[in-house]
Amino acid sequence: MSFASLGLSAPILDAVAKQGYEKPSPIQEKAIPAILEGKDVMAAAQTGTGKTAGFTLPLLERLAGGRPARSNHVRALVLTPTRELAAQVGESVATYGKNLRISSAVVFGGVKVNPQMLRMRKGADVLVATPGRLMDLHSQNAVKFRDIEILVLDEADRMLDMGFIRDIRKILALLPKERQNLLFSATFSDEIRELAKGLVNDPVEIDV
Ligand code: AMP
Repeated sequence: MSFASLGLSAPILDAVAKQGYEKPSPIQEKAIPAILEGKDVMAAAQTGTGKTAGFTLPLLERLAGGRPARSNHVRALVLTPTRELAAQVGESVATYGKNLRISSAVVFGGVKVNPQMLRMRKGADVLVATPGRLMDLHSQNAVKFRDIEILVLDEADRMLDMGFIRDIRKILALLPKERQNLLFSATFSDEIRELAKGLVNDPVEIDV
């Protein structure tokens, strides 16, 4: 199995090759074609499995065709539990998307909100965010959800453990109904399954 056979195009394949990845990991083999098809995905994946590229590569591929994000708008939203993970995912988006005209931004709490508000004026095709800071920015009209086509919840179990369930539910209620949903979690507890019920539609389930 090669990355090319999964349906990714040359600019992304080139970025992947530059990373030195020779072949897709098991989660990537399953997740990439499903996400490219526009399906919802529910994946049980630990850190170290290549899950980040598993959702980032097809997400970039899907966004690459469309119009750039409008001012303050976002086309794909990735929610992460911690600022460290947000920064890592943001770096992956920048690395894998470097041959594409895709803009991205990372926002998290514990730092000044003003630079993030200024950044959002340009819009972001991909916004990687922690839930609390995203809610702040949204309540100040700095981030608008109307154009969101794809939602990713990364490390959903950690988000629940950290008490973000209320923020997540609030955010979900504000998103456009018509969108693709990708749910990644190390474990699938009853609580995650409950969250998934109201989130993913007819998902492709992946367990590696
Ligand atoms: P993750 O599970 O997303 O945290 O990724 C773990 C590590 O695996 C990261 O350092 C990636 O750069 C690397 N990685 C992701 N996909 C591949 C691949 N197909 N081949 C080799 N390394 C990879």
